[in-house]
Amino acid sequence: MLDIAIVNGILIDGTGKPGYRADIGIKGDRIVKVGKIEEPAVMNISADQLAVSPGFIDIHSHSDLSSRNFPEMENILRQGVTTQVVGNCGITPGILEGSLGRFIEDIEKRGIGTNLIFLAGQGSIRSKVMGRENRRPTEDELEKMKSILESAIDEGAKGLSTGLEYIPGIFSLTEEIAELAKVAARRGGIYSTHLRSEGDELELAVKEAIEIGRLADIPVQIAHLKTEKKRNWGKSERILQLIDSARVNGTDVNCDVYPYTAYMTSLDFAVQPFDLSAYKNYREALEGLKKTPVDWDLIYISKCDMDGGINGCNVLELARRKGMSPEELALELLNNDDPVRVISFQMSEEDVKNIIAYRHSFIGSDGSGYRKRDEFDRTHPRSFGTFPRILGRYVRELKLLSLEEAISKMTSLPAKKLNISDRGIVKEGAYGDITIFNPDKITDKATYDDPFQYPEGIEYVILNGKIIIDKGIFSDKRAGIVIR
Ligand SMILES: [Zn+2]
Repeated sequence: MLDIAIVNGILIDGTGKPGYRADIGIKGDRIVKVGKIEEPAVMNISADQLAVSPGFIDIHSHSDLSSRNFPEMENILRQGVTTQVVGNCGITPGILEGSLGRFIEDIEKRGIGTNLIFLAGQGSIRSKVMGRENRRPTEDELEKMKSILESAIDEGAKGLSTGLEYIPGIFSLTEEIAELAKVAARRGGIYSTHLRSEGDELELAVKEAIEIGRLADIPVQIAHLKTEKKRNWGKSERILQLIDSARVNGTDVNCDVYPYTAYMTSLDFAVQPFDLSAYKNYREALEGLKKTPVDWDLIYISKCDMDGGINGCNVLELARRKGMSPEELALELLNNDDPVRVISFQMSEEDVKNIIAYRHSFIGSDGSGYRKRDEFDRTHPRSFGTFPRILGRYVRELKLLSLEEAISKMTSLPAKKLNISDRGIVKEGAYGDITIFNPDKITDKATYDDPFQYPEGIEYVILNGKIIIDKGIFSDKRAGIVIR
């Protein structure tokens, strides 16, 4: 007797091969049958007119940051995602707070909505050993960092991540990172990087990532690849060529992308290279900021704890309304203790499309778990819409890639990169992580004005053999595990 039988669907098994009619049988947490099902089952799911695929893998998430507040991950599961890679951009709170092992234990005790795969953040490791110091590590410090990384890997991390635009990653030179990457490589991990530059110095930054891959002999994952700021639009072609040639030369490089032309960051990053702490007084800071070329009309306030009423406002318009210059307003916001988060429309749709269509790219939301609608928070819609947006807008509407290709970018390809053989593919013996959706209806609904909206068209999500979304109805079962 099966626990679940999924019948009459079109199976898109994750490998990229054309969808075909096949039933799926699940028993316990595993897929036990792919083909024609004649056995009875406790639960029968009719997938007529629906596509059946492996649960999606989000290769780039920050849900570990919100895993304590929002462990059920409804906004993630409703996108069809069953596994998230966390600990990205050099940031792993577990390492800073004590040990990754304890952080993971804590998560397992509470239960978690999706499967999680952890990376160990280089920024967190460096902070622990060297604080925010802008210098090379001593030999002793380097050894300490290596041993923290080693422990984190022993406790469950599947690689190293960096955030080289952030403090303290920005202070680390290529060789320092390569030394750590070697530790991860020896234990079969990957190297995932938020590049040192996503705009003016993008090409150099990509070359650095490839160089680290070569020096440490480690698979490289370039995170949320983009060409930031108008003057850099069109660079994606050159960047993808660089990745191709690195692959030809034997370094296993991939990238990931989210399907939006805006990114979300804190205001001080949005006005780079401006650094408030470098100025003596208000007048000088204002002069300095005026010299920094910023497209204020493209920057929107996403979350300001000091004044929630301005969330969603455009910086230029708001400044006009207040009778200030945008620089004066920005300084007021930068002077705030709680960093002000902004959404900045500085990417080109053509580059986004190029990267989505690139055969070695995966899909990563760069988002995180959220709970209920917060009408004051204008968070980025990527946390609610990334995966359905790929399948609705870029596959069905724009026909940029086939459904099978898109699914493979969300399933078997990232699973292979992460060295996981029993997820990301529908086959007998694999884990019962399944997403069932209507390819004609799947649509993201989250917008910049109203990001807290679940997508349409995802009918069922099964995680480790448990039905989490049943005919569109979510139930909080915390069926996820930490994959070590
Ligand atoms: Zn990042």
